[in-house]
Amino acid sequence: MIDYKLYIPGPVDVSPEAYQAMATRVMGHRSPDFVDLYQSCQAQLQELFQTKDPVFLSTSSAWGVMEGAVRNLSRKKVLCCMCGAFSDKWLDVSQRCGKEAEGLVVEWGTHIPPELLDEKLASGEFDLVTLVHNETSCGMMNPLEGIMKVLAKYPDVISVIDTVSSFSVVPIPKDDWGIDVILTGSQKALALPPGLALLSVSERAFARAESIEGRGYYFDFLEFLKNHEKGMTPSTPAIPQIHGLKYTLDKIFEEGIENRQARHAKLNAIVHDWVSEKGFELLPQKQYASKSLTCVRNNLEVDIAGFVKALREEKKLAIDGGYGKIKGKTFRISNMGNENEETISHLLSSMDEVLPRFLSS
Ligand SMILES: *Cc1c(COP(=O)(O)O)cnc(C)c1O
Repeated sequence: MIDYKLYIPGPVDVSPEAYQAMATRVMGHRSPDFVDLYQSCQAQLQELFQTKDPVFLSTSSAWGVMEGAVRNLSRKKVLCCMCGAFSDKWLDVSQRCGKEAEGLVVEWGTHIPPELLDEKLASGEFDLVTLVHNETSCGMMNPLEGIMKVLAKYPDVISVIDTVSSFSVVPIPKDDWGIDVILTGSQKALALPPGLALLSVSERAFARAESIEGRGYYFDFLEFLKNHEKGMTPSTPAIPQIHGLKYTLDKIFEEGIENRQARHAKLNAIVHDWVSEKGFELLPQKQYASKSLTCVRNNLEVDIAGFVKALREEKKLAIDGGYGKIKGKTFRISNMGNENEETISHLLSSMDEVLPRFLSS
């Protein structure tokens, strides 16, 4: 029995109402009822994605469409911007798909400098760039607007932007910034259970896909487009997840997109204040700190594993004890999804009670 609440940066806590929305009788995925459900999400999704392009629903985790993007879009060579666990893995994924790929590598927790990207792309070697907007492993948010300005100079280079943990947290004007492929997952800021990835693909990217062989079937962007035009998905989708999505979209528009973003910014600032009050530091530079989660550097040499365990067992609250090679050297707190001032204050005061026992004296 899971008797604790998640404050890890994904999956995040799901509301009882969202679970309830998912508990709807299953229907045929080629039925008019499904088409109604699918199409009822489109206008809201396009507004949320800030795009006129179609928004597809993929029954997979985000990695499915991250891999799919590479398979659909690169003929020459992929440039993978690497600044943390998720962005680093994209290089390996690209190579495993049999693509030529190279990394633009910076230290974990630091941002991708637009000038460096410009230098790399000037070589003319690359036809696809992968970038993680919000590097969840480090709590670092890349300067996407500046990065997209560089990409605008290279019309033959397609951009794939992972916004898995920033989507709906900050404005990301897909069309205005010229993002070709933007993708996210259900279990982060949308606060749904895992199992659904969402993506939007530009006309330029569809045109590229047409010229690429070996796109496969399950993640073929053109297959998605063909089905989308009928209000459907290529194969049987996770229908409960889509009911949950519809519920969530209605909630988002009820709250208002801007209000939602302001709520996330405020909660994030509250956590940041706690970090400095305690004498901790952020992993990234403040200027590039994520708005959806906080990655705290363990400069006070806390027994992180002990702290996280005690918080979960005694207070029934789960935070994250660090990802990959910075496990134990950092810890992470999510403020995504449905959190509000009350729930975040409750977390912080519970942390205050538990923390002293794990500080090195
Ligand atoms: C969580 C996360 C992923 C992985 O998503 P899955 O749904 O597990 O495939 C990828 N990128 C970022 C930035 C993430 O935060």
